[in-house]
Amino acid sequence: MGDQGRSLREPEQTSSKSGDGVTVCNTFEEMGLKEDLVRGLYQYGFERPSAIQQRAIKPMVSGRDVIAQAQSGTGKTAMIAISVCQLTDNRSRETQALVLSPTRELASQTQKVIAMIGDHLNVIAHACIGGKSLSEDIRKLENGVQLVSGTPGRVFDMIQRKKALRTRFIKTLVLDEADEMLNQGFKEQIYDVYRYLPPETQVCLISATLPQEILEMTSKFMSDPVKVLVKRDELTLEGIRQFFVAVEREEWKFDTLVDLYETVTVTQAVIFCNTKRKVDWLSEKLIEQNFTVVAMHGDMQQVCFLALHIH
Ligand code: AMP
Repeated sequence: MGDQGRSLREPEQTSSKSGDGVTVCNTFEEMGLKEDLVRGLYQYGFERPSAIQQRAIKPMVSGRDVIAQAQSGTGKTAMIAISVCQLTDNRSRETQALVLSPTRELASQTQKVIAMIGDHLNVIAHACIGGKSLSEDIRKLENGVQLVSGTPGRVFDMIQRKKALRTRFIKTLVLDEADEMLNQGFKEQIYDVYRYLPPETQVCLISATLPQEILEMTSKFMSDPVKVLVKRDELTLEGIRQFFVAVEREEWKFDTLVDLYETVTVTQAVIFCNTKRKVDWLSEKLIEQNFTVVAMHGDMQQVCFLALHIH
């Protein structure tokens, strides 16, 4: 987490109710969190909560169902981590919160953030994701882990087929990047997992967009949820400008990319592609054009990236 400690852009105001009636906590102290947890946040380099954290953590830790409209870059992972760490009862080693994510990378990143933020609380967090050894997963789960962050397929397998993940004491289910999970066809598996949870389980749903299918899900899974929507201009990290180039046809993308490098001064860049094959193809094409390129991808198919250095 190289950029931890950056300050996220946030509204300058004292603790208050926002337009939609959600309480805004400007400091971590105001949220009534465990002392060791707040200490951990400061050590981690967080000075103040981000806009989404200011609004969503309090209802999450109070046990309410929450719908938070948030995307990457808003501090949503820490928001989840802080909430589930606060909700964990350290006297028990039973699994108490389950976070579902659309990709293995996100699930394991969330587990790492939970482990780091919850360090002073000695929380035991486990990433339950495909591509890792089944027997190791079973062993860890059977030893007892308080927080599980995983992808729907592997989590369901561990609950239903392997019976290694006990759901009886789960109090909180977090659906991170819910719109992406639906896009990737995880709907059935999310419903399958949900059926194994105690009926009173708190559900928190985080999604960048709220299409009809998500609203359907919220009406099935949630009761009287608190809705946290953050204005667009509060969403991005300070110092980062974002823009996009709409390219109509796939075969025009490469030339557009090369044009960009001719017009903008870029010394270093990271280019993300959605398949391993595309990363290989693009790096070869760029090398042909005399760019210095390092291609990187793992055995995980979901996210591949390409580092490009221009001299
Ligand atoms: P995310 O939205 O989870 O992708 O987080 C974006 C980045 O913001 C990550 O690098 C976090 O470490 C960082 N971040 C999250 N919350 C805070 C905070 N309250 N203060 C400073 N940085 C933060």
